[in-house]
Formats: sequence, C-alpha cells, structure tokens
Amino acid sequence: MDLYEYQAKDLFARHGVPVLPGTVVTTPEDASAAAEQLGGTVVVKAQVKTGGRGKAGGVKLAKTPDETRARASDILGLDIKGHTVRKVLVTPASDIAEEYYFSFLLDRANRNFLAMASVEGGMEIEEVAATKPEALAKIAIDPLAGVDLAKAREIVAAARFPAEVADQIAETIVKLWETFVREDATLVEINPLVRDPEDRVLALDGKVTLDDNADFRHADHAELVDIDAENPLEAAAKAKGLNYVKLDGQVGIIGNGAGLVMSTLDVVAYAGEEFGGVKPANFLDIGGGASAEVMANGLHVILGDEDVRSVFVNVFGGITACDQVATGIVQALRILGDEATKPLVVRLDGNNVDEGRRILAEANHPLVTMVDTMDGAARKAAELAAAN
Ligand code: GDP
Ligand code: MN
Repeated sequence: MDLYEYQAKDLFARHGVPVLPGTVVTTPEDASAAAEQLGGTVVVKAQVKTGGRGKAGGVKLAKTPDETRARASDILGLDIKGHTVRKVLVTPASDIAEEYYFSFLLDRANRNFLAMASVEGGMEIEEVAATKPEALAKIAIDPLAGVDLAKAREIVAAARFPAEVADQIAETIVKLWETFVREDATLVEINPLVRDPEDRVLALDGKVTLDDNADFRHADHAELVDIDAENPLEAAAKAKGLNYVKLDGQVGIIGNGAGLVMSTLDVVAYAGEEFGGVKPANFLDIGGGASAEVMANGLHVILGDEDVRSVFVNVFGGITACDQVATGIVQALRILGDEATKPLVVRLDGNNVDEGRRILAEANHPLVTMVDTMDGAARKAAELAAAN
C-alpha cells in the first residue's frame, strides 16, 4: 500500500525523522483556518498518491489565510496524472538552501535492500539517474547488519553530503532505516530532504510503500487505508480475501494458481487481437482449494465489473479435482441466480477432468460454454466479449 505524503510524514515523525507539523483538510475554508492556526507563510500541497505534484501545480506557497483559501481552492479537484485531489496538506513553508534526495528500498533484482542518496534532490530522481548517474549514490544494505550510525556515515560520504549537515543527515538516515524496518516498508523516500538557511535538515516530502504481507503485525496500518481512493471492486474482493486486480479489458478472468492466471491474461490478450483488441478485465486467482463459495465470491466480484462482457474460468484440477471445481461452478451459479447475466466460458483440465466435464454438461446452464483447450476457450471468451 502506498501512503499519502501526510501519512508518510506521520510515520517519519513517530520514528524521529525531522518533519514540520501540518493539517490535512478537504475544503478551502478549513485550509484557511489551518493557515491561521499555523501563522506565517504556508505551503498548500495536493495529497495524491503520485509524484510530480509540484510540476503539476499541486504545491503552492500562500502568505495569508486568504491566499491559502484561494490556493486550496485551485488545488482541490485538480487532476494530477489521473488522480483527483480531494485533500490538501497545509504546512509551514520552510526556506530552502539545498534540496537532497534519500531513499531506502527493496532491491528485488539483487535480493537486497538499497540506499539511494543524492545532493541533487528536488527534481525527479529518475532524471538524475539517467542524466547524471554519478550524482546518485547507491549503497547496498546488508539486511542482517542494518544501518547504524557508522553505516549512515558511509552513505553520507558516498553521496558527498556537505560537512555542515553530515551529522544531522547521518542521524536522519538511521531513523529512516528504523521507519523502514519497524513499519515493514518496501520503500521510504524523502525528496526533497532539505537544508534550510540555518543548516537545519528537514524531510519536506515523504513517500512510503508498506508491505501488505506484513499487515498482520501492524494493526495500526489498517487506518491508513483510504477507502474512498480504493477501487471499489478491489476493495470488495479484498474484503472476501480474494487475490483480485482490476484491469481495463472486457473478459473477466478466474483461474487457480497465479501462474495459470498470468498466462490466461496473455492468452486472452492475444486471442482478443482478432476481435478488435478485446483484453482481460482482471486478474483473479482463487487458489488451490476453490470451494463453491469462493467461486461464487469470485464471480460476484467479476460480474460487478461494468466493463466485463464475458467471463473465462480457466481451472487446472490438482489437489482440488475438476469434479469439485465443476460442482463449485454449478453451485456458484445457483447462489448468484439472476445476478449471473454474462456468458461464461469454462475450460477444465487435469485431475478427474472427465467427471468435471460431465457435471458441467449435465447441469447444462444456458450461460456456460465448455471448451477443452486453453487457447480455444480464450478465443471463445474474446469472441463473446466482442459480440456482447
Ligand atoms: P512532488 O513534486 O510531488 O515531489 O512534491 P514536493 O513535496 O517534493 O514539492 C515539490 C517542490 O516544491 C519541492 O521540491 C520544493 O522545491 C517545493 N516546496 C515544497 N515544500 C516547500 C516549502 O515548504 N517551502 C518552499 N520554499 N518550497 C517548497
Ligand atoms: Mn517530492
């Protein structure tokens, strides 16, 4: 889960990373009141889960409460890279002498953690990495050793942070590592990490990605979820414990096993080319022991997607044999009743396939078409989606 800037800064503050206080508001009036409370010049910042807000006009200075109201009114409702701004952060403006970049992240390619640091922060770090790679220090972090003050000083030296702020930055790096580990994050990023004219170091922006797999040890992370900003179908699927990702095509997909579902997406996208570019509408892995209830829950979510024109159920019987899956599909359709309105293409193979196919044939449901091969079924599902 990606966090908003204000949530990231809350976590930073909890672990001692220096940030300024701020208030999150949803109306220009509340923004003005927040500025009044803070006193002095403030920055009004769009809270959206994407970068480049500054360039998009989502970060503005305001000298007075009236100006704050006006800037908040400009920013609220703004569309930034497809994200509508519904909240702004009002925070004291700080004077900036220099802008740096710092992050810890999970380096999947090297199966390790990585620190990235640069004295050329503020702008997009991808640009620094592309145009001036020597200005971006990358330091591998041994996950068992972690980051103590000595390691932090090593990072500070590698990135060539100025001597005046070296100690403060080293301490901040240690605290940020604590945030990264204790909160089970896969990314913590500060851009810009600023040095003000009095040589104070501050995190002026914050980006955090939390590892959802560790949710079970962080009861407090549940309140960071922004239900309004979540895709409603994904939220419904999550509530039912389903592994669902919404995509933007028209063929609903249900399969068992992540690998099979991934290849199903490819096969459907390929087959769809023949029918004017029909594409998969979602990823949904119902896993090994798919009961009728799980099948019904999966179909319920997929049929709730307005974009879906047909559904492809692609199951390879393993420990849960095809006859159980077939029974599951038949029962699921019974549970759904009138809700099931879109054609279903079912491909069953694997353990006890003959019995599975017999059960589906016998049920003879008007919406169900059985196709024996994966390619054939994908083609049929694409064809039905294009025709519907
Ligand atoms: P991003 O564009 O989404 O990464 O948003 P940031 O929070 O990084 O803000 C973009 C830029 O706005 C920063 O690099 C700063 O130059 C500027 N900015 C943000 N906060 C302040 C502030 O408190 N004072 C001043 N002077 N500039 C700020
Ligand atoms: Mn930034």
